[in-house]
Amino acid sequence: MLKAHRINWAVTIVMVILGGIVVGSPEQGGVDVGEKDSSQAETPVLKELTIRIVQDNYRCSDAMETAWGFAAYVTGPEQRILFDTGSNGALLLRNMTRLNIEPDAVETIFLSHVHADHTGGLVAFLQQHADVDLYCLKSFPARFKEVARGYGVRLLEVEQPRQMCRDMFTTGSMGRKVCEQALVLHTEVGLVVVTGCAHPGLVKMVERVKALHEQDIALVMGGFHLGWAKPGEIERVIQALDRLGVRYVAPTHCSGDRARKLFGQRFGSRYIEVGVGKVITLADLKRVD
Ligand SMILES: [Zn+2]
Ligand SMILES: [Zn+2]
Repeated sequence: MLKAHRINWAVTIVMVILGGIVVGSPEQGGVDVGEKDSSQAETPVLKELTIRIVQDNYRCSDAMETAWGFAAYVTGPEQRILFDTGSNGALLLRNMTRLNIEPDAVETIFLSHVHADHTGGLVAFLQQHADVDLYCLKSFPARFKEVARGYGVRLLEVEQPRQMCRDMFTTGSMGRKVCEQALVLHTEVGLVVVTGCAHPGLVKMVERVKALHEQDIALVMGGFHLGWAKPGEIERVIQALDRLGVRYVAPTHCSGDRARKLFGQRFGSRYIEVGVGKVITLADLKRVD
């Protein structure tokens, strides 16, 4: 059984005893998540998952516009997720239209960290659609949270690792200089981990995922923050991911050309080239024994 689920049951029991715990005070716009967490009787495993990259500085389709930043649309989990919002809301919305994604379809926005190339598209998006759960870190500036609440979002402030809905988890806040959380999804082929920039260190983030979930890691994708790293450092990251049993990698955004090339060489057929317009499904993550 998953550690996370053991934690969840423990949390659920405590919640029943205390009569419900509220995440964040009502003044902070926190909401009671007892109902969500207490519904986790079985280990959830997604049989379907689709990740569409809607903003990236790398391109996978000529029809899409690029800009520095990252955003991805994730379907298959209990809630449809917009992971980060890129740097430019107008561009984000145009790219979403090109991929036939209606803003109204988004149920959850997950913000990995506060940097503008991941949150810059938020306001333009909320002007279109704000009936969402918004997961940000507790350490985000008060003004940022105030603006988001002003649009009517249900703001959920993350500090510790936690389950967000049936098959969707956060690593919790990591790092000191730049705090960041990664998204973790449970699928039938293993865990899928999505990072924004991996500022706390990609290896540390993946190690935390492994420690919390004790499952095979099918894919790590997103910004690996190796754009300025020397080849030796990139090699060390590659070896560490290999040791952790990561099956597929899809580095993009701030990963850098050199790291993408080295990951491609080392992971071979287990390297997935991504950029804006790329669509990844579980069929791309078959077990390779
Ligand atoms: Zn970034
Ligand atoms: Zn960043």
